[in-house]
Amino acid sequence: MTQEIDVALVNVTKKFGDMVAVDNVSFEVPKGSFFSILGPSGSGKTTILRMIAGFETPTAGDIFIGGKRVNDVPPNKRPCNMVFQRLALFPMMNVLDNVMFGLRRHGGMSKQEMERRANDALARVGLTGLGKRRINQLSGGQQQRVALARSLVLNPTVLLLDEPLGSLDLKLRQAMKLELKHLQANMGTTFLYITHDQTIAISMSDTIAVINHGRIEQIASPEELYRRPATHFVASFVGENNMLPGGKVVRLLDEEVCEVDVSGVRMVGRNAESLSPGDAVDLFVRPEMILVQPGKHESGILGKVAEIHFDGSHSLVVVQLLESAKPVTINVKIQHTENAPDLRVGDTVTLSWDWKAANAFRHVAQQAS
Ligand code: ATP
Repeated sequence: MTQEIDVALVNVTKKFGDMVAVDNVSFEVPKGSFFSILGPSGSGKTTILRMIAGFETPTAGDIFIGGKRVNDVPPNKRPCNMVFQRLALFPMMNVLDNVMFGLRRHGGMSKQEMERRANDALARVGLTGLGKRRINQLSGGQQQRVALARSLVLNPTVLLLDEPLGSLDLKLRQAMKLELKHLQANMGTTFLYITHDQTIAISMSDTIAVINHGRIEQIASPEELYRRPATHFVASFVGENNMLPGGKVVRLLDEEVCEVDVSGVRMVGRNAESLSPGDAVDLFVRPEMILVQPGKHESGILGKVAEIHFDGSHSLVVVQLLESAKPVTINVKIQHTENAPDLRVGDTVTLSWDWKAANAFRHVAQQAS
């Protein structure tokens, strides 16, 4: 069965004068999915969203919503709705009037019908019974849900979300990201979410498109992005990672696995870019995937504990390698389980990891911002 696609971009480019903000971008958003565009500030996320909404026109390429090309369709005729970071609710109006605002603008509907639909939208976001409250009598999370209801009441094919959790404090953001994901899953509405916060994108999305300098670096599930980053940028941008620069491929153990020399110390990793012996590489190793054994062991990398930072459920242990020609440190995350090693600063330790925990990419002189 072929999957129904709600939004598709085909070779879309947007230039502002000579500046290429979005560079030949293509992707498809399956119906009912939670799709995020993740990238640093200035990478082109907002421009993509604004082109889908119809507030910007592509310089080249086509945009489809619900299977129809919409390049020439004005914003108010497109079957999508946008939720902004600043929620743009009317603080002095009550909740119901805020939700009905969009319906009023569309016109052609009786007051009764508008109220019925608005109450229905409020029920979908779990705010039944709060219609008469003023916006400034609601919590930040409830306001967030009113903003969602105001967009949902128009029954959009796709909801475009411009970092709407960005303005919330950390605790509320954590709670709301789960809630937003549940709402989306229950409603089955397609969500297209843009954010620079990888923790948000990873925990909510079915699919993430990582963008940098206007170009798509990788489109994949959160797990795939985390475990098998396709590019140097994705490896450094998504999730915590140790980047060990200045390595050289010594040999390929098989097609997928390479042995890398980092400052005289041999390490293994995934051959993420069809590398060959002699290639200059940077090796990325996930801190939580490293095994630390107290003392000196036959196989593994010898180091000394330089720092330990307690962080609740885990500790971050900074290990200084003992046999490297130049100083190399590796961060290791240790969960506080019963079997966790009892380490002290100054202890000698042996580090090791499964090759899948590390990814080798061709060396990049200056990390992309
Ligand atoms: P942020 O996370 O900071 O919002 P972003 O990833 O959404 O960033 P965009 O706002 O899409 O990035 O901007 C992409 C690039 O295009 C930036 O360099 C920006 O300065 C530029 N840009 C955006 N809008 C315009 C415009 N109207 N005129 C000229 N340049 C623009």
